[in-house]
Amino acid sequence: MSSVLRIALQKSGRLSEDSYQLFKECGIRFDYGTGKLKSVSSNFPAEFLFLRDDDIPGYVEDGVADLGIVGENVSVETGRPVTTVHKLGFSKCRLSIAIPRGTDWTGIQDLQGKNIATSYPNLLGHYLAGQGVKAEIHEISGSVEIAPSIGLAEAVCDIVSSGSTLLSNGLKEVETIFRSEAILIARPELDADKQALVDKLLFRIKSVQAAKNNKYIVLNAPNHALDQITALLPGMKSPTVTPLATEGWSSVHSVLNENEFWENIEAIRAAGAEGILVIPIEKMIY
Ligand code: ATP
Ligand code: ZN
Repeated sequence: MSSVLRIALQKSGRLSEDSYQLFKECGIRFDYGTGKLKSVSSNFPAEFLFLRDDDIPGYVEDGVADLGIVGENVSVETGRPVTTVHKLGFSKCRLSIAIPRGTDWTGIQDLQGKNIATSYPNLLGHYLAGQGVKAEIHEISGSVEIAPSIGLAEAVCDIVSSGSTLLSNGLKEVETIFRSEAILIARPELDADKQALVDKLLFRIKSVQAAKNNKYIVLNAPNHALDQITALLPGMKSPTVTPLATEGWSSVHSVLNENEFWENIEAIRAAGAEGILVIPIEKMIY
């Protein structure tokens, strides 16, 4: 029988939509959101399992699933011996210590002997040990941010993205202990057939990510400025330059990285480029 990759995804939560979207962009079709626990892809040898995110590293370790998508925070917290195959760039957040807004803060030593509520006892314990701080860690599974107001703890250690949840609970963030994003994890010893499928999937994921980080750019340039403009547009190999019907002008096509986009666009305009079109790229194959 030929191999089928079993891939565990969060059933519904902050990882789900982006995980489903990623496979869609990789051209892998499957049904989700039907309430079913699993779904077989119609066009890739993969079967998807929909689970609670906390259970995913364990299922991957046990071989129930070959691959999974989880937050790095969950993967590290559970401490399961799984392989991180690739960082996925979504569900970015941080694990931070927060205290009531009116409390003074001079540094992590302030937590010496204090009670801290968290859903991440291992990550927090490891961090505090590294800082030489002895504190009482109270593990609670949800609504950590209310712990100080009900007198359960003097501080919390919780997931933060914008900080608005902390703010609305009268807390202030004082120390970030871990930065996280969604990651693709795998069972450490996959057989050759499954590893080949993982490589195939990874190739697609990287192409999708590269496309997102780059824009296709088309512009008209006076010929005397071509050297200056093409130097600002390295492209995948080098820019394509073709003459326009108007004498003395050329059309330049290239690819520009998102990070360098605005600065380069300004320099390109200043060099005399006109009619600049910026177009999203769907896939980028190196
Ligand atoms: P489940 O019901 O599956 O156990 P959950 O409530 O434990 O879900 P979610 O809140 O859906 O988990 O968060 C899943 C992951 O998304 C977290 O482990 C973290 O990596 C990331 N995450 C959490 N909060 C945010 C946020 N505000 N912004 C971005 N990513 C976040
Ligand atoms: Zn969870």
